[in-house]
This record gives sequence, C-alpha cells and structure tokens, in this order.
Amino acid sequence: MLLNFMMFFFCKYTGFDWVINAYRGEAIIFAKKRMKTRVRFAPSPTGPLHIGGLRTALFNYLFARKEEGIFILRVEDTDQSRYVTGSENYIQETLEWCGMIPDEGPKSGGNYGPYRQSERKAIYKEYIEKLIERGGAYYAFDSNEELAESRATIEKDKQTFKYSAKNRMSFKNSLSLTEEETKLALKGDYVIRLKVESGNMVSVHDEIRGTVRVNTDELDDKILMKSDGMPTYHFANVVDDYLMKISCVIRGEEWLPSLPLHKLIYTAFGWETPKFMHLPLILKPSGKGKLSKRDGDKDGFPVFPLSWGEDTPGFREMGFMPEAMINYLALLGWNDGTKNELFTLEELESKFSVSGIQKGGARFDYEKARWVNHQKITQANTDDLIQMDTVKKMLSDFPKKNHLSLFNLVKERLFSLNDLRGELSFIQSPYAYDEKVLEKLKDKGPISVLNKIKEEVEKDNEQLKESLMAWAKENSVPIGTLMQCFRLALVGKLTGPDLFEICNLLGKELSLKRIDDLIKYINLKLT
Ligand code: GLU
Repeated sequence: MLLNFMMFFFCKYTGFDWVINAYRGEAIIFAKKRMKTRVRFAPSPTGPLHIGGLRTALFNYLFARKEEGIFILRVEDTDQSRYVTGSENYIQETLEWCGMIPDEGPKSGGNYGPYRQSERKAIYKEYIEKLIERGGAYYAFDSNEELAESRATIEKDKQTFKYSAKNRMSFKNSLSLTEEETKLALKGDYVIRLKVESGNMVSVHDEIRGTVRVNTDELDDKILMKSDGMPTYHFANVVDDYLMKISCVIRGEEWLPSLPLHKLIYTAFGWETPKFMHLPLILKPSGKGKLSKRDGDKDGFPVFPLSWGEDTPGFREMGFMPEAMINYLALLGWNDGTKNELFTLEELESKFSVSGIQKGGARFDYEKARWVNHQKITQANTDDLIQMDTVKKMLSDFPKKNHLSLFNLVKERLFSLNDLRGELSFIQSPYAYDEKVLEKLKDKGPISVLNKIKEEVEKDNEQLKESLMAWAKENSVPIGTLMQCFRLALVGKLTGPDLFEICNLLGKELSLKRIDDLIKYINLKLT
C-alpha cells in the first residue's frame, strides 16, 4: 500500500503519467477479480427435473467451484398453476445424490434469502412500485375479453398481435387514462407491464453465443406483475438475480430469446447486467429437436436422474452411479480440449472452462452414458460398491462372505449396477444348456473331457487350470473344447466371467454336481 502511494507521487512529479494509468488499470482488474462469483440454478418445481435441468445445475456448480464462488439454488415457484408437489424435494434430493450441495438455497440458507420465490412477494411488490415510479412500467386494465377482441381483429389481417409502444395508447392503461380514471381503475383488476420504448436496439452479450441484438419494435410490453399480484417469471427472475448479486446467469438455450427483455428490465431499473451463458440444447438421440420424455419412453432409457412415481425410473434406478451421471452430463456440451472423456467431479471442478462449452446442440446417447457408467463401476472400489443399498439388495440371496468375490467376479461385465442380478443368476442355477454348443461338442469327446475335469476338481487341485491345460496338451484335446465343456457345465452358455473363479465361488460340491448334470444330459441325448 505504502509502496503504491510512493510510486504514485514519484510518477506524478516525474512525468511518468502512463505508469499511473497502468496502475489504475491494474487496480480495476484487481477489483474485478475480487468480485465474488455467484451463480444460481433456478428451477421451477413443475415436475421431475429433466437431465437437461441437471446439466444446467452441474455447469453452474462447476463454474462456481472453479471460480471459488457460490452456488445458489433458487426455487422459482411463482406460477402456482404449474406447481407440482414433491418437485422441490426431488430437485434437492437429486443435487444431493450428485454431490452438488448448494452453498445457499431453501435448505442451506444464506444471506440473500428467502430462496423460494413464493416467499418473496413483498420484495417484488416493492420493486415493481419502484419501477413504476421510474417510469419503466405501467398499470394496464384491459380485460381478457377486450384483449382477445383486439387480437382477433389484428390476426384477421394476418398480423401478429402485440401490446406495445405502437398501440398502447389505444388500450386502457395508466398511460392512456387520466389520473382520476387510473385511480378508479386501480380498484379493480390490473396487470403491470414493462414500458418498452420503440425503435431502440437492445444488444446483450452471451459468453457462449456472442452478441444478441433485437430492435425493441419486435418486442411487446411484457406483463411483469399478474392480476393475482404474483410476478411473472421474467420480472421475478431479474429482480432476484440482481438482489442475490448473481454475477453470471447460466441457463438453458431456451431462455436466449428472453435475454433482450431481461436486459430491458435491468436497464429500466438502472442496474448493470450480470454475465450470461446459455447452454446448448440436449438433442434427441436421432433426428431433430430437444430430448423429451417421450424419446425415453419409446427407446427405454430414462430422462430423469431419479424415479418419478413407480412407472418412471430415473438413472439411479436404472443402475447408474452418480459419478457416471455427472461425468456423462458434463460431456453433453463441454470438453476439456482433449479427447479425454472420463472425469471425476473433482477433476471437472478444476478443469471446467467456459471456452470448452460448445454452441451447437449436444446429442444424447444412452449407450455412451452406459459406457461411462461401466467405466465408473470398474474404477470404483468394490468394498464401497457392495455397501450401496441397491447392490446389497441384489446380493442378499448370497452369503455375505461371498459378496465381495461375487461382485468382483462380474464387475468388468457391468454397464449398469442392475446388470449384477442377471450376471450372477447362473450362480444360483445355470442357464439352460446352449444346444448349439452341445451340437458342436458332440463329436469332440465331451464325456471324457468332463470326466477329467471332474477328477481334477474332486482332488481339490490348487493348480486346476495348469493341470487341465497340460492334460489337454498331452492328449491333443483342443483348449477350446476343454474350456467350452467346463463353461457349459458351470454356466450353461459360453459367456460369463472367469471360469476358474466361478468354480472357486461355486465350491467343490456345486461344481461337481454341475459337471455331473452335464454328463448325464449328454448321455441322455446321445442315446
Ligand atoms: N425457472 C426457469 C426454469 O425453470 C429458470 C430460467 C433461468 O435460469 O433463468 O427454466
């Protein structure tokens, strides 16, 4: 500090003014740097959270962590007609499942609450009054019938109806009526509209999409406050972003068309806008358009992170690990500039950057999501996996002491945790013998091979594999035939995990029984 002061005077009186300016520049940069990053995820509780919404939450969260900022959850529940009970809990539970705990929010608390818009009515009232006072908004008293009539007349001429600067004086509002008339009209129903001046160019910068420009003639005087005294999304959203000191708004691309309107609201208040980032859409697996629940229903994949009712399972119920959900969602519209596709949440927190976000839509690919899940399952510690409730349930038919080995036996084969049950089913009873394989083995002396296997298993041979291999070599029995006979006996078909591990897990008695069963079956078939 002292040094800065001395430098200032030294430069001032020695003519080094440029140094002073450079210092000032640096001070500004320094001040900007210190501005805390505050981002928010602002879902409307209108049903389960679509994975597109969760991706928005994730990018907000990652941005906050990367910038050492604050991640806020704000529940936008002003539209009572679309409110669905249980959605807010669903959102909270989803974020917790993914390990993205909001720093501020309805559950976490914070200094900028309440974080539910329905609890902020008094704030919106205060701010709408301020806006009217500033001349940025006005009362409108037109009834629905009157508006419908005007709309019909305009649309008859194939024009679009808009309540705007061009025609607002022909409607009933506080701009067209006298003060007396307005006072009287305020006793009845009214809405409050934004006063959009005509002929201005609004331009707003989006960090991903570049600059969006719109002439105000294309906009209408949007309703900010409804007749029930509730704010519309646009108004509440802007007021809250301002009051919650949001530094960057990160949300889905579907909100990009609203951006000029939001900028006008900020301007009407005389507020500076935050930064904006509109994330690319998540597209259907094939064809045009946004990924919808219908796509999932049609092709049998989830579009929600958690189940919603009994008929709609989420990724969690479909056997996805939260780590995989997060990792896959991060890939929907972002990359780290390399071909790397596997990241932990911590890695994402440090690698996330806005420059890695793509402009174009991101295509949803369920197989890819399953592949990511497969990678996460394989990388996870089996001790932890067998502690998961879903896994415990699937292993409950087996003795606890075998859980670890059983999971390890099939771990590499799982693309979903739910695959576990199917992959282990042969442990309880083998599959029906694959007849095609039997047909092929028929002329290759399967009985003598099986008898040899039986003999070695009976001996408790610790070197079972080596002994069988050596025997096959000596007797010119192809290794393939040996292994196929053994696998068919233990599993019933030719796929499955390591044969010798299976044998170990089944134990001597059960393995011998299965070999005997196959011998009997072949004998029966051959005679
Ligand atoms: N409530 C809006 C939604 O559910 C939020 C849009 C925004 O983030 O501004 O999509």
